[in-house]
Amino acid sequence: MKIYLDGKYVDQADAKVSVFDHGLLYGDGVFEGIRLYGGNIFRLDEHLERLEYSAKAILLDMPLSRKELTEVTCETCRQNQLTDAYIRLVVTRGVGDLGLAPWLCAKPSIFVIASKIALYPQEHYDNGLAIVTVPTRRINPAALPATVKSLNYLNNILGKIEARQFGALEAIMLNDQGYVAECTADNVFIVHKGELITPAASQGALKGITRGTIFDIAKELNVPIREADMTRYDIWVADECFLTGSGAEVIPVVKLDGRVIGSGKPGPITAKVLAAFRRRVLVEGTRI
Ligand code: PMP
Repeated sequence: MKIYLDGKYVDQADAKVSVFDHGLLYGDGVFEGIRLYGGNIFRLDEHLERLEYSAKAILLDMPLSRKELTEVTCETCRQNQLTDAYIRLVVTRGVGDLGLAPWLCAKPSIFVIASKIALYPQEHYDNGLAIVTVPTRRINPAALPATVKSLNYLNNILGKIEARQFGALEAIMLNDQGYVAECTADNVFIVHKGELITPAASQGALKGITRGTIFDIAKELNVPIREADMTRYDIWVADECFLTGSGAEVIPVVKLDGRVIGSGKPGPITAKVLAAFRRRVLVEGTRI
């Protein structure tokens, strides 16, 4: 496997960063998870814009322009002869000393990995996921905006560990006011009386690229959609629920904390949204 690392395409065994890299020492950096479908990178420009915004938010100078980023992302896929893949783009603060000071880091480091991703097992797309609400709360956006896709994912990882301890693959994370924010690595939607509803980014949700795609799909399907405050009650009484993410795509949820949601089976609107999503990923995107 060839990995793009700071200007070179190197073998996996040579793709190494320093122990003094602040991405490693402090989680000081930003990243993206992107999908390649049939030789097209899905919504690459949107991912790169989010990456640039994340970098700007932490005052990290992007080492490459949008055009260069596009080129190295495509070239990494080409070098590995991939047509379908999961792409991880990472920008770290770079090598510094043992103090926090990012301004002492000489220059940011950037790497691109294009590889396979293990989706949720197919049975969960067919039958729906059973998820739980975890005790760990989402970090207050005033402390660290969820819109910044930073390398500091410990909050999500604690949520993921708790989900597993409760026997679930994904979990609802509430914000510090008790409203639903999102899941550990996916956004959440409910369907209620024919309408699609998802929490706003201000509640502690990442502005997911897949989430954004669902807004376009809703328009295409003539299904009303809106952002709203969401509590667990809203999920309890929802007709349908599903999660979205570049890795997960669109996955139905049929249980929360042991309670059955809607009919207990993936719902008709979820199925329509998923089908529309699968159509879009094949035709939209940047040809590598
Ligand atoms: N929320 C979190 C915390 C995430 O890490 C992700 C990405 N896996 C998402 C939501 C979904 O975002 P996207 O659709 O851009 O992959």
